[in-house]
Amino acid sequence: MERNSIKYGYLRREINGASLKGDKMNKERIQKLWKEILKVIGEDVNREGLKNTPKRIAKMYSEVFRGYNTKNKPKITTFKNGFDGIHCKGIVCEKGYFFSHCEHHGVPFFGEYYFGYIPDKKIVGLSKVARVVDFFSSKFQVQERLTREIVNELENAVKPKGMILVLKARHLCKEMRGVKKVNGHMITSEVTGLFLENKSNVKDEFMDLIGLK
Ligand SMILES: [Zn+2]
Repeated sequence: MERNSIKYGYLRREINGASLKGDKMNKERIQKLWKEILKVIGEDVNREGLKNTPKRIAKMYSEVFRGYNTKNKPKITTFKNGFDGIHCKGIVCEKGYFFSHCEHHGVPFFGEYYFGYIPDKKIVGLSKVARVVDFFSSKFQVQERLTREIVNELENAVKPKGMILVLKARHLCKEMRGVKKVNGHMITSEVTGLFLENKSNVKDEFMDLIGLK
């Protein structure tokens, strides 16, 4: 029974031509298709250095595109603000790195993220923030949507007084092509709650804290 359902799943993937949401990636198919791409661009797929390349790429894809598997979506656990005598009233900040793929050109864009929030009733572990960033980065993306998806996910789980996320990234599609503008950064941000209010100075405070001002 079990065996049949696995076989059926595999066939469905073959028919759809792509791995299904939450399903395991079809490495054999990726391998085959990459071999084709290499041939078409003029490579000798049998030469020593390239022999195992399609296989390596397929293996790497299941890692760098793990964001397509909903099973990898992190559960966001929160704690009651005030728990263990810790009561957060100010801005909690976190800085980290992310790696994603540009959905227009298929090459990486990557950089730093700066996250901040003002807790209300709940606080969230900053390692969870890193996992959420990681999950939504691990698929084909545009930077604007990536920024929004991360904030939406965290905002819904934490319901803070305000939240801010700034992504500062290098895009290889811009650096490798055309004018080859190396080291230019694209900056996107998403803000909610108190960070949106002109009267409050929390946005300035955050920019100060992360050194982007
Ligand atoms: Zn691009």
